Amino acid sequence: MLKQVIAATNNAGKLREFQAILAPIGFTVVSMKEAGVAADPDETGTTFAENAKIKAQAVAELAGLPALADDSGLCVDALGGAPGIYTARFGGDIPQTEKNALLLRTLAETGSADRSARFVSAICLAYPDGSCVEAEGTCEGSILLEAAGTNGFGYDPIFADQWGRSFGELPAEEKNRISHRAAALAALAEKLRML
Ligand code: IMP
Repeated sequence: MLKQVIAATNNAGKLREFQAILAPIGFTVVSMKEAGVAADPDETGTTFAENAKIKAQAVAELAGLPALADDSGLCVDALGGAPGIYTARFGGDIPQTEKNALLLRTLAETGSADRSARFVSAICLAYPDGSCVEAEGTCEGSILLEAAGTNGFGYDPIFADQWGRSFGELPAEEKNRISHRAAALAALAEKLRML
């Protein structure tokens, strides 16, 4: 069974989570830098799954080795599922703390009391021959009234799990047990086990 994969991501938070979640099941995840490849393909897909595939296939082709990509985002019900696949681009080129504040303001401006939301992760493991194994995971929760905690990355400080705990305050081990990425990687591992 395949044991070493390149993480097709420039996001240090995602790389850390890939390594932490996959190490216990025997995978070594190396960064693009360690593998000597550089890629930042345009995410032109219309779904998380399409974008994950674009990223994984680009790196697998460049490196000639299997590559693992995640395309993920935050879907807020009162915003009609936005920012969704545009989560990384939400608010443009501003610091993450400002993106978090903008999302809180945007939600407040709707006047809706519905704060339900979910993180979604689509994972693609691509091989140099172009073939792929794909999986998806979600984590249900809600948007907090204000940011809490500095753990994790991205929108973690404004997202609470279904027990109301901010991802910004959860220890990494706990987030990695319940997160959308953990669910997607578990589904991927199950598919690989069946191959
Ligand atoms: P991508 O790198 O194009 O997939 O964009 C993912 C976007 O969703 C980025 O803005 C991330 O900060 C955000 N995101 C994805 N997963 C998480 C997470 O686990 N915590 C917080 N933000 C996340």
